Amino acid sequence: MPEKDSKKIEFQAEVKQVLDIVINSLYTDKEVFVRELVSNASDALEKLRYLQLTDKEVYDEELPLEINIRTDEDGKTITIEDHGVGMMRDELVDNLGTIAHSGSKAFLQAVKEGSEVGDNLIGQFGVGFYSVFMVAESVEVYTHGWKKNAKSLLWKSDGSGTYEIETTSGVRRGTKIVVHLKEDAAEFSNGERIKQILTRYSGFVQFPIKLNGEQVNTIQPIWLRNKNEITDEEYRDFYKFQANAFDEPVYRMHFSSEAPIDINAVIFVPEHNPERFGFGKTDPGVGLYCKKILIDPKPEKLLPEWLRFLKG
Ligand code: ADP
Repeated sequence: MPEKDSKKIEFQAEVKQVLDIVINSLYTDKEVFVRELVSNASDALEKLRYLQLTDKEVYDEELPLEINIRTDEDGKTITIEDHGVGMMRDELVDNLGTIAHSGSKAFLQAVKEGSEVGDNLIGQFGVGFYSVFMVAESVEVYTHGWKKNAKSLLWKSDGSGTYEIETTSGVRRGTKIVVHLKEDAAEFSNGERIKQILTRYSGFVQFPIKLNGEQVNTIQPIWLRNKNEITDEEYRDFYKFQANAFDEPVYRMHFSSEAPIDINAVIFVPEHNPERFGFGKTDPGVGLYCKKILIDPKPEKLLPEWLRFLKG
């Protein structure tokens, strides 16, 4: 934990390893960083919506629950902002300086095992927030946690081993990530290019995504849509998005009933069993939504425990 402002803090060794691989990789689909940042923004908004449902007092209450993306070709930046839960100082250290989360952990594990998955590793695992360093010369994360007494903070790093956190002022609730693009990634400061990337999967994001002020997604969850209008590719993309998965589903079921209760479900059987990677028992993987709002991402009692391998 930093005591003073602007002290350089070392990334955890495992993070350095991930960053090394990510920065030096010649992986061509660098656009996955957009998916990762948007997915984090969407998670942060889900968490906030849940806090509001449970009547928690929230800072900057009136802010809309949406994701704003701005591109600046002259400045070679792309900025992704959400008004979600934001992060307090210890959360910044824990979340962006260490690896405690699924994607990057599985990624490192696969690398350590000599990776049968080939050089496509980054795309398959996503590696979360750190994938931004495939395209970034430096990154600034402005954040203000949801609690009334939280502070405006700035986290910054060039991905080369250390990061800094300082107190700043005037940050609205949530997180704003400013990505200063590398010369060879300047294409991501082009609005049309980003629009093209967003349309591929933003349909699954439950909050408005605005690109340079214009909304780019329609918010109709896949489980509420007509089966006949959904393509295999959309189901597959949804599986990867929802389950944060890197494999292909081997089976899917889209089920609707109206009586005695109104249920719409999209459920997948994954190709791989992560418990075989040595991660211990997995959490339930079928999220529970009511009126399009995520009530519980890992409901214990929705399905029997032995069905914990299902995603949806
Ligand atoms: P993952 O999303 O797989 O947990 P990431 O590396 O993408 O891994 O993010 C690490 C953690 O940082 C997240 O779990 C979350 O707690 C935090 N985080 C990242 N982006 C945001 C954001 N926009 N708002 C709030 N917290 C965030």
